[in-house]
Amino acid sequence: MMDRFTTARERMVSEQLACRGISDSNVLKVMSEVPRHLFVDDAMQGRAYGDHPLPIASDQTISQPLIVAAMTQALQLQGTEKVLEIGTGSGYQAAVLSRLCANVYTVERINTLLAGARKIFDQLRCYNILSRLDDGTMGWREHAPYDAIIVTAGSPEIPEPLIDQLADPGRMVIPVGERDVQELHYLTKIDGEIEVQQLESVRFVSLIGEHGWK
Ligand code: SAH
Repeated sequence: MMDRFTTARERMVSEQLACRGISDSNVLKVMSEVPRHLFVDDAMQGRAYGDHPLPIASDQTISQPLIVAAMTQALQLQGTEKVLEIGTGSGYQAAVLSRLCANVYTVERINTLLAGARKIFDQLRCYNILSRLDDGTMGWREHAPYDAIIVTAGSPEIPEPLIDQLADPGRMVIPVGERDVQELHYLTKIDGEIEVQQLESVRFVSLIGEHGWK
């Protein structure tokens, strides 16, 4: 889709992603297509393709493009997967995922954010995204198991329900650590075995709920 930000998007991909470890061509292609500016306030659209996170409503943030790309790439999507996202926020990450897998299930605890995201999903015809207002630390049992799970808020631990609702084989990315800084964790479940690897340091807003921060 061509729009007034087409060039900004292409520059974002070449200057912030392709040269910094994002090599999955499908991820690069989708990020050159999804109109990130629609997911921020009108007044901030001009900054939507910058190399930084941006504030969204309710004191939350839309992640830096590089972080969205890195977490998406880590999931190694082939196109057939069921993916669970915790923390819909603006909806940008879900929209990116929706073009790389079969179905996205996304959970958000703040109603105003969810309502805003749903409008854009309709506008962009992301019909393979199902969203729900709830405490995402409990997962979304009804549609489990998920081939991949992505948590876009920082948690003190990996919520047990999410490990339970992960398919075998399955993989999860989640920021785990303190309130102000976390390590991105990459978890795999293969033949019943859970393995956890730490990737880079990140700063996410807090995952608040039963199995997150109280
Ligand atoms: N993926 C989002 C980033 C959102 S920021 C995007 O692309 O814009 C993190 C989001 O997680 C916030 O919207 C916050 O409200 C939400 N969140 C925090 N704890 C949650 C929980 N327990 N369940 C669901 N959403 C949660």
